[in-house]
Amino acid sequence: MSKEELECSFCGRKKPETNLLIAGLDAHICDRCIEQAHGIVVEESKDNDAGGELSAELMLRKPIQIKGFLDEYIIGQERTKRVMSVAVYNHYKRLLQQVTEDDIEIQKSNIIMVGQTGTGKTLMAKTIARMLNVPLAIVDATVLTEAGYVGEDVESILTRLLQAADYNLEKAERGIVFIDEIDKIARKSDNPSITRDVSGEGVQQALLKLLEGTVVNVPPKGGRKHPDQKFIEVNTENILFIAGGAFDGIERMISKRLNMSAIGYKASHDEDAIDKNNFLQYITPTDLKDFGLIPEIIGRLPVLTHMNPLDKDTLRAILTEPKNAIVKQYKKLFLMDEIELTITEGALDFIVDKAIQYKLGARGLRSLCEEILTDAMFSLPGSDETKLNVTKAYVEGKLTRTTLKKLKAVS
Ligand code: ADP
Repeated sequence: MSKEELECSFCGRKKPETNLLIAGLDAHICDRCIEQAHGIVVEESKDNDAGGELSAELMLRKPIQIKGFLDEYIIGQERTKRVMSVAVYNHYKRLLQQVTEDDIEIQKSNIIMVGQTGTGKTLMAKTIARMLNVPLAIVDATVLTEAGYVGEDVESILTRLLQAADYNLEKAERGIVFIDEIDKIARKSDNPSITRDVSGEGVQQALLKLLEGTVVNVPPKGGRKHPDQKFIEVNTENILFIAGGAFDGIERMISKRLNMSAIGYKASHDEDAIDKNNFLQYITPTDLKDFGLIPEIIGRLPVLTHMNPLDKDTLRAILTEPKNAIVKQYKKLFLMDEIELTITEGALDFIVDKAIQYKLGARGLRSLCEEILTDAMFSLPGSDETKLNVTKAYVEGKLTRTTLKKLKAVS
């Protein structure tokens, strides 16, 4: 066979039609076929990797280990951490479920967290996403409106998720969406003057499909401003939705329900067991319905859990204990200028006392530390100082009444 007659065994091109023809034992392959084959190899290994990564992750982390990870970043909230660990585990187990003959299909375990602002709901969602290494979109339910109204369509939630996944569709479809302030789209039945409840029930209806699992046409850049952009089809089937809200006033509803059910009981042992300082722990789906969530939404958020209010001990621990605790962060900042920061126990207690007195919550701890340390962070770098010891007196000097009032006003 002459050189000219040699051909690619895959596509049949003759040698002169190719740029390169490589000889094997009994066959030849041309440059084009090599490229194509390479493309297939890359695609295939990507698919396998994605599945492999996820399985490996799940093999590694059982609910107890998931909780262990949450413990490193989140103080307290024991019950919720357990509930979340199981829900997350089951959710990702569901992703791996094989189609079997028994027809048992595991339903989604979307989660709803009820708790005052600043109790760590967002932190919980963030920590889970970090642990699983999946993209996370945090959206505020208050900006969502029904299609056709001013505001964002619910599809924008998925635009955010796509962005968080760097437009990797496969990753996005296994991501987590945290919908904050879900309570703000509760039905407002006590306001008859609104003929159409733009921000309430309509949005809940629009959310339903997303939560359940459906294919949605998503504008990759979001908004309605780019009418010519191509849509991306996103399947929400395996996206974990976590909703959070403060549900202001729901405690009263819970306590009312508990009291009503207590009527008729002769023995008061049930009543005794009720912890009146924390009614949220008794929350049931009925309370969410009474608050104004439609039953269909409640049904699609089957895992209901609550966040406890932060007491003094918890706030104190939040300052120093989590893996990236506020105090640890400041120590690191100072250390970068070779300054050793120490804060006395008395100073820490004083900070927590002020956070409680001025109702600043966990978020306020950071602002308090910022106020206390700003002057030092301004003047110490570049000076001869190598140590900063923050005592109670030092803190008292920085946190004047005016400062505290200012912090309260912005919190
Ligand atoms: P929420 O979403 O409930 O309003 P966040 O998750 O935004 O609250 O919490 C506000 C801040 O308070 C977080 O950045 C976190 O540093 C801190 N925080 C709140 N609760 C805890 C907790 N239980 N453990 C550690 N940090 C917490």
